[in-house]
Amino acid sequence: MACAPKLKRTRFAPSPTGPLHLGHALAAFVAASRADPGAFLLRIEDIDQSRCRPAWEAQIYEDLHWLGLSWPEPVWRQSERRGAYETALNRLISSGLCYPCRCTRGDIRAALAAPQEGAPLVGPDGLVYPGTCRHRRIADAAPGDAIRLDMARAVATLSGDEGFQESGPAFRGLHRLDQDWLVTHCGDIILSRREMGTSYHLAVVVDDAAQGITEVTRGEDLFEATAIHRLLQALLDLPTPAYHHHRLIRDENGKRLAKRDDARSLHTYRAEGYSPADIRDIIEFTD
Ligand code: GLU
Repeated sequence: MACAPKLKRTRFAPSPTGPLHLGHALAAFVAASRADPGAFLLRIEDIDQSRCRPAWEAQIYEDLHWLGLSWPEPVWRQSERRGAYETALNRLISSGLCYPCRCTRGDIRAALAAPQEGAPLVGPDGLVYPGTCRHRRIADAAPGDAIRLDMARAVATLSGDEGFQESGPAFRGLHRLDQDWLVTHCGDIILSRREMGTSYHLAVVVDDAAQGITEVTRGEDLFEATAIHRLLQALLDLPTPAYHHHRLIRDENGKRLAKRDDARSLHTYRAEGYSPADIRDIIEFTD
């Protein structure tokens, strides 16, 4: 008996920290256009509760409906998934790949400013951590500590065959994980931040697997983060989806649109009488 082909399932995963803008419209259209009918999901990425607001979440639903998009209910909110992230984190901790970290951003900047360190390196997880707390043991973790992944130990567990398939215009092809790059450009990434119990990287990997996402679509600015996600999939024995990183919408100075660009928010366009078809034209999205 022939197996039914796997549904192509994608997701749009905004954070409710401000108004959706033209870049989000493109991200949502790309995700929806690459899914089978009924298999385009919306996921609310609200782990950073200090920046998320219910009003922004309500606006997300309104803007997306206005654009003509629909998705199955219930919509997952990452703030309601803490148990799943904790399970994944505990698994990484049990593998002996983690350590507690009490450094503040200021501590990290100060350590990296030491003359012998050279220019601080910024990778897809921000400043590459100098390793100040790497000697500490999980058993000695204090309640407010973050949990970091010891990247050198983590990549040493890989088989060397890990990679992911990318279909976006800028990076099309098969990408193998570069272990040295992970150590030097990502370093000991944070898996769990004090007040969140997780991190963007861990939450996204756990949820994409739990929701059966077959293709992750998102902006090109997140391409480098995908290596971190592929690594976490290997460490957690999770399936690897395909990836599609799309172009970014930029302002007249070539800068990527940000949430603070309220002038280009979908809400503003709508209030000025633009239609969803006009939005498609402006971002040059053709299905
Ligand atoms: N929540 C992320 C954002 O708003 C998207 C993350 C992803 O697609 O992996 O940029």
